[in-house]
Amino acid sequence: MDEVLREEAMEKIKREVLDCQKCPLYKTRTNPVIGEGSLDAKIMLIGEGPGYWENQKGIPFCGAAGKVLDELLESIRIKRKNVFIGNLLKCRPVTPDSKNRAPNLEEIKACTPFLERQIEIIKPQIICTLGNYSTAFIFEKYGLKNQIEGISKIHGKIFEVKTLFASVKIIPLYHPAVVTYNSNMKEVLLKDFKILKDQDAK
Ligand code: URA
Repeated sequence: MDEVLREEAMEKIKREVLDCQKCPLYKTRTNPVIGEGSLDAKIMLIGEGPGYWENQKGIPFCGAAGKVLDELLESIRIKRKNVFIGNLLKCRPVTPDSKNRAPNLEEIKACTPFLERQIEIIKPQIICTLGNYSTAFIFEKYGLKNQIEGISKIHGKIFEVKTLFASVKIIPLYHPAVVTYNSNMKEVLLKDFKILKDQDAK
């Protein structure tokens, strides 16, 4: 797909998300978070869903976890604008008292066709899943279901899958938010991001 067609396809997804009522989260969101970055990205990073600040601004990873993610990308000298950052969910999953919560299965089922179309447009060579939820989703999508383990077991490992037209490396990583409640985890993430850097250099 050429550049213009890819931009149009991404815009179409945006319009559809703005009109989407496939799950109840559209009622409580302020802004959906479509995803951001280069359509030529070699690396795609996939989180769970928007939190408070992402919902306010419509930008992925722009709150506390985003600050950690930015530092991790800087540590390996990869620019945020050169990767694509998306989420399983486009709208913020909230508790009745407006706190962040994990996505549920119905929401994941309703929303991830948008993400799958984004993967199809970008065709990343490397997909980094951030945390258990996106790891489980991407592993199922790429036929790695029998290799799903908790993120503490599989973080930083490289899973290579061959699709019909290409080969994709999947690297599960801890969700950057982990550092906001356990600062010791930063070392683990820094180490895993070096693994990502090595793969990016190939
Ligand atoms: N956490 C996520 O999983 N995604 C974001 O965009 C922000 C925080």
